[in-house]
Amino acid sequence: MKIMVSACLIGENCKYNGKNNKNEKVLALLEGNEVIPICPEVMGGLPTPRVPAEVVRDVVTTRDGRVVDQEFRRGARLSLAIAQREKPDLIILQSRSPSCGARQRYDGTFTGTLIDRPGVTAELLIENGFQPVDVGDLPSD
Ligand code: SF4
Repeated sequence: MKIMVSACLIGENCKYNGKNNKNEKVLALLEGNEVIPICPEVMGGLPTPRVPAEVVRDVVTTRDGRVVDQEFRRGARLSLAIAQREKPDLIILQSRSPSCGARQRYDGTFTGTLIDRPGVTAELLIENGFQPVDVGDLPSD
């Protein structure tokens, strides 16, 4: 099976704070499968660490007010291109990320409030017929 996955979930330190979201359940699931890691924010040209961002009225903006929409959208397009080329059987994405969140993201007020709308990469994948799975929705053993 071919599995596309948020790179931070497999231990890459590409998270905004320079850390990762290493997930043992994901690692176990990937064993013996072909793995395609993506980090849309890094692929879009952003550094690590970076100032956290949210989608503010449809424009991705950092907590300190810098517009990073182009970088986020570029990362989303590149991720979509990889998915279209590789045709993964499964896509597992990190929860609540403004890029990867498959079901939810923060609402753009930087108050920790979630809304039922995917991050920009997940949203683009969904619009193009993919069904990314939120890591939080993986069945437990
Ligand atoms: S953009 Fe996605 S892969 Fe990259 S750090 Fe954020 S959640 Fe992880």
